[in-house]
Amino acid sequence: MSASAVAADRSVCAPLPVLGRDVRVPLVTGGEVDYAALDYAASAPALQRVWDDVAAYAPYYGSVHRGAGYLSQLSTDLFENSRRTVAEFLGCRIEGGPGEARSSKGGGGRREGDQVVFTRSTTDSLNLLASVLPQGTRVFVFETEHHASLLPWEQRTDVTVTYLNAPRTPQQAVDTLEKALAAREPYGPALVCVTGASNVTGELWPVRELAAAAHAHGARIVLDAAQLVPHHPVDLGELDVDWVAFSGHKLYAPFGAGVLAGRADWLKDAAPYLAGGGASRKVSRRTDGGVDVEWHTTAARHEAGSPNVIGVYAIASACRALTEAGFDGLVAREQELITRLRTGLAEVPEVTVLSLFGDDAARVGVLSFVVDGWNSSHFAAALSAEYGIGVRDGLFCAHPLVRTLLGTAPQDPGECGAPDAAPGEKSLNAIRVSVGVGT
Ligand code: PLP
Repeated sequence: MSASAVAADRSVCAPLPVLGRDVRVPLVTGGEVDYAALDYAASAPALQRVWDDVAAYAPYYGSVHRGAGYLSQLSTDLFENSRRTVAEFLGCRIEGGPGEARSSKGGGGRREGDQVVFTRSTTDSLNLLASVLPQGTRVFVFETEHHASLLPWEQRTDVTVTYLNAPRTPQQAVDTLEKALAAREPYGPALVCVTGASNVTGELWPVRELAAAAHAHGARIVLDAAQLVPHHPVDLGELDVDWVAFSGHKLYAPFGAGVLAGRADWLKDAAPYLAGGGASRKVSRRTDGGVDVEWHTTAARHEAGSPNVIGVYAIASACRALTEAGFDGLVAREQELITRLRTGLAEVPEVTVLSLFGDDAARVGVLSFVVDGWNSSHFAAALSAEYGIGVRDGLFCAHPLVRTLLGTAPQDPGECGAPDAAPGEKSLNAIRVSVGVGT
């Protein structure tokens, strides 16, 4: 589709105003150009609307849940209203809705309402969920996950983690999971963790089907929606997932907050993620000299300490902005951009686009590739220095996945990057381009 056709097609959104669009960057070749931000998957620029909302609120900033003054009350209201906005954005299920009759082995009946817990990020949300797993939970996770969804589970020494091999089709993912769940011994609490959209290939995972498989085997499922939520509506009820985790800074709200939303039971039965003020309802000295604590059973249980009201308010603002703009138009525009990129790259024989599920896979606006004869780090550095284009290079905090895609053996990658391959050698890392609503 040409640019004028895109503009004429009213189902395709115009870019939304974001910060950083007017940044000029110097080139090594001399002069300067407009910066091209093509690394939305790492951190997306703030929507202008989010920035404006935060700026309008900033003069009235006050403590949340901790003051009788007007500004404290205002901040508390904004914080709790933001929770409601996020719950609506995610289609959280309400108290009394249909229960888990879906599981052949679990019970049915009345459902408790979903909780929205504010965290620092997706990583924080998944570590929080790991901390509340019942003892003995069996966790199932594909080796292809981002480290944030791959690694938190083994931090618990009283749960067992099964790593599932990389599937090469969405159906194979479902079959692999079904087989693993069916074979589990002993039968008991189980959790599946899956990403909605890969941060490496942009490919969409069959979340609904995986959720159905999990529930059919009496397991629960958490969706790592870090890369999905900026590009697609995510509705907990419709996807039938138990929890969803995402980060504000990938949703155009870069102020250090994240979300874990979903079923209340494991959350309110477990010890608080952090112990401290805000999480505790009543604290008293015992006669034997110790301390008794009554913890909240609401989301506050896992939100000890003064909360990040700016970050939370920014997430709610982004949720409203995206909902009002309409996901259909935003998705259509991103698809047009990423298709144009794929078409262009397909014409360069030296380029290999990385894919787990093949050319026909549904994907968001994220794509990784390697260039024959080029070290990916040098290539990415040249894009920045010579063209003012900001992309990411490395293994993208998904080392096992990228190695599977590149067919390379484990190396010591150091941090989140990979060791340099000399030009001409097989690349040990890749280049990632990602777009978003402001591209
Ligand atoms: N999950 C996926 C799929 C991601 O892409 C990322 C970040 O890149 C994360 C989790 C972790 O997000 P954060 O660094 O905000 O915790």
